[in-house]
Amino acid sequence: MDALPPLREIVARYGLDAKKSLGQNFLFDLNLTARIARAAGPFDNVTVVEIGPGPGGLTRALLAQGAYVVAIERDARCLPALEELAAHYPGRLTIVEGDALEMDVAALARTHAPVADNAKVARICANLPYNVATALLTKWIEAEPWPSVFDRYVLMFQKEVAQRIVATPKERADYGRLAVLCGWRTKARTLFDVSPAAFTPPPKVTSSVVELVPNPAPLACDARALSRVTQAAFGQRRKMLRQSLKSLGIDAAALLAATGIEETKRAEEIDVAGFVALARELSRVAR
Ligand code: SAM
Repeated sequence: MDALPPLREIVARYGLDAKKSLGQNFLFDLNLTARIARAAGPFDNVTVVEIGPGPGGLTRALLAQGAYVVAIERDARCLPALEELAAHYPGRLTIVEGDALEMDVAALARTHAPVADNAKVARICANLPYNVATALLTKWIEAEPWPSVFDRYVLMFQKEVAQRIVATPKERADYGRLAVLCGWRTKARTLFDVSPAAFTPPPKVTSSVVELVPNPAPLACDARALSRVTQAAFGQRRKMLRQSLKSLGIDAAALLAATGIEETKRAEEIDVAGFVALARELSRVAR
């Protein structure tokens, strides 16, 4: 990649030793970062929001493939390295310092859309910090209005979390709140696994890159009601729904009867449409 110094040199120059508390596991393998970026592309007139660019490995790959990047980084130590990268790609990289959990990423993407483009497209691509990965994804998928500005999310998670995102009732052990939420508003699939050896330092477990494509017209339902229902149901997943849904403080039997779901079913037997029906009924009776 032309005159940019190798990433390891950048890390040494700016003293970017990885901090566990920030979920820092860096990627230095250019083939891998290019592969992740390709999975998120093509990038004609696309603004990519990257969470946690760190020393900028994946950021370089996104820029090299033509993306406009808005990179949100919490670790101030990384900013000089990212500014060097921004100088190499004038007008193509915006660096935002702060906690991505506190930010309105859709607003950021809108503000920094490519100037020349009227039909703006935005995407999120990231090797997520694992300590906040699930919280970030939940926040993005529960966001209103839906669909948001993002047409795709290409994200690295721990494999175990990836399995919980893409699970269906067939994968009982993995099927839970995250799968219902993602299954409601997106079509999610695992693209490929990444070995711990690909990271510096290596995490304990294998990772997976997941693609989530927003469903433009998900079944109508209130995200908070869906969250309440799945929390109650999966919070006591071994119990029958007539028991577990009592924690909602409503008449669980009546709720189930109104939706035509058998009282003796357990959470892991209910598909996304079933949970949406329960959430809608909860919104109606709790109004
Ligand atoms: N993208 C780089 C790569 O692939 O080599 C680094 C990925 S590393 C797994 C996660 C990055 O997210 C780190 O740079 C870390 O400082 C940053 N980070 C951690 N928590 C964050 C937060 N709440 N908001 C924004 N960035 C965060």
